[in-house]
Amino acid sequence: MKLRGLHAHSYSLEHSVPRASVRAIAILGVLVDRGGLSEAMERIHALLDPSPSTQVGTGQVITLNPEYLMRARQDATLRHIIAAAGVRVADGVGLIVAARLLYGANHSIARVTGNDLVAALAAEGVPLFLLGAAPGVAEDAAAVLMRRHPQAQIVGMWAGDAGPGDDAETRRRINATDARVVLVAYGMPKQDHWIARNLPHLNASVAIGVGGAFDYLAGRVPRAPAWMRVHGLEWFYRLIRQPWRWRRILIVWQFAVLVVSIAARQWAQSFLSTRFTRFTGGR
Ligand code: UDP
Repeated sequence: MKLRGLHAHSYSLEHSVPRASVRAIAILGVLVDRGGLSEAMERIHALLDPSPSTQVGTGQVITLNPEYLMRARQDATLRHIIAAAGVRVADGVGLIVAARLLYGANHSIARVTGNDLVAALAAEGVPLFLLGAAPGVAEDAAAVLMRRHPQAQIVGMWAGDAGPGDDAETRRRINATDARVVLVAYGMPKQDHWIARNLPHLNASVAIGVGGAFDYLAGRVPRAPAWMRVHGLEWFYRLIRQPWRWRRILIVWQFAVLVVSIAARQWAQSFLSTRFTRFTGGR
């Protein structure tokens, strides 16, 4: 089966990256998992109990959004961290729309947010360590998780600091618990660099960058109303509630312009090649 635009190399930053498979799709040269929450949880379980046949990458889970893809264009280390990660979910309507524009409706990707993963792991009773966010936020988030999911096991919490200076102390605290999954809330891309640096030294085999998930759970930052989330307007809600984030929202618009221009070029190329084939009678 040939995917639309598969021959168009222009949008791939790393031409060695396969552009689309049953499991993942490349957007701006970054592979994004296509499956939904159950596929992501399946892969997380495979990472928790790795065997040579199920090992699908590092134990790092990345909750991708347009900002990540734009950042990865400049940050080679981040690009490699994403490429090596065992799970790379699409946490952002922008990626869903981009996949449709670049590959067509038949090659859609599902949205899986950091909040979805946290809730699913808590509901399954997987021992969790909550790292990051402002002091006191993880404690409030843990209380909410345990209220919502009576089987949740929160085995430790620590605000710490995203910089390497705190690594040794944070590792010591995490390794003193029975945590199997570490939820890291240092925002992108700090949380992803933190995980890449520290996961090999942890007893826990999986770590997930969850961004603002603890703030949402603790009620520090209100989530956009459901209708706004469904219509991809979360960015607008954030802009109103947190106007200082305008620079980050601008990056999302730059992503949109880039994707639309690549899609337009692909359409033009495929239109012209169809016309040319007709004109030459397929010779
Ligand atoms: N944060 C932190 N240390 C840092 C930077 C961020 O603990 O050096 C926390 C911040 O308090 C917040 C979370 O990381 O709880 C990131 O939130 P944000 O909404 O910025 O996440 P993103 O938009 O990147 O998902």
